[in-house]
Amino acid sequence: REAVENNELILHYQPQYNIHTKELTGFEALLRLVNKELGFIAPNQFIPVAEETGLIIPIGEWVLRNACQKNKEWLGRGGKEYCVSVNISAIQFQQRDFTDMVKRILEETKLPPHCLQLEITESILMKSLDENIRILNELRGIGVKTALDDFGTGYSSLNYLRRIPIDTLKMDKSFIDGICLNETEEAIAEGIIQLAHKMNLEVVAEGVEQTPQLEVLINKKCDKAQGYLFSKP
Ligand code: C2E
Ligand code: CA
Ligand code: CA
Repeated sequence: REAVENNELILHYQPQYNIHTKELTGFEALLRLVNKELGFIAPNQFIPVAEETGLIIPIGEWVLRNACQKNKEWLGRGGKEYCVSVNISAIQFQQRDFTDMVKRILEETKLPPHCLQLEITESILMKSLDENIRILNELRGIGVKTALDDFGTGYSSLNYLRRIPIDTLKMDKSFIDGICLNETEEAIAEGIIQLAHKMNLEVVAEGVEQTPQLEVLINKKCDKAQGYLFSKP
């Protein structure tokens, strides 16, 4: 609670690239907490606490507003459009006025809706699928992009994948790690990419750290990548 009051939250941005043209296409906003006594606290440590206490609602709104403001600022400077990706927690996504909140922030910050992508995880969607499909369609209606984050780490049910209206699949880092190690790993990554493309989804590889990994991804026609190989957040 003090961190929120004392402005100890800060956003870092990790660039995303088109791996074929090497063009910068956007950024993922990643939240950090820097406290005078405790120092740097990673999101995996404080976000679960923020979710338990309900503080994720105001924090999440703050993240969304700041990321949209920043992207609008960059748009104003160079004129080139980038897409900013914002992580959304389950509790936030299931708030009754979630779409209205997103709409309000886009109006406030004057960011074009297609310059915003919301990242949600599979586990969020599984819970109440029909209700979540409705929310995703509302978001699509206002022109905001959506991505399925950490794809492949949960149940990854193909039954729901074919029903949900999303734009992007983010292939989890765990699939990228082993991509150069053996054929099975490579086949899984290739399979995910092909499946996504057949469904008209764009694929982003997460956590690309080494050039050989990138080479395999280029070869397998993955669309975009982010990771330490390009830049830390
Ligand atoms: P995520 O959405 O899967 O974000 C990717 C994480 O991988 C980030 O960790 C990022 O710094 C890290 N990463 C990126 N490239 C590489 C790489 O090449 N190698 C390695 N080892 N790691 C890489 P981070 O920033 O610690 O965030 C952890 C998680 O916290 C995020 O996972 C996301 O689920 C959550 N999170 C972060 N910011 C927010 C936020 O604003 N709201 C919510 N609800 N969750 C957030
Ligand atoms: Ca993410
Ligand atoms: Ca992820």
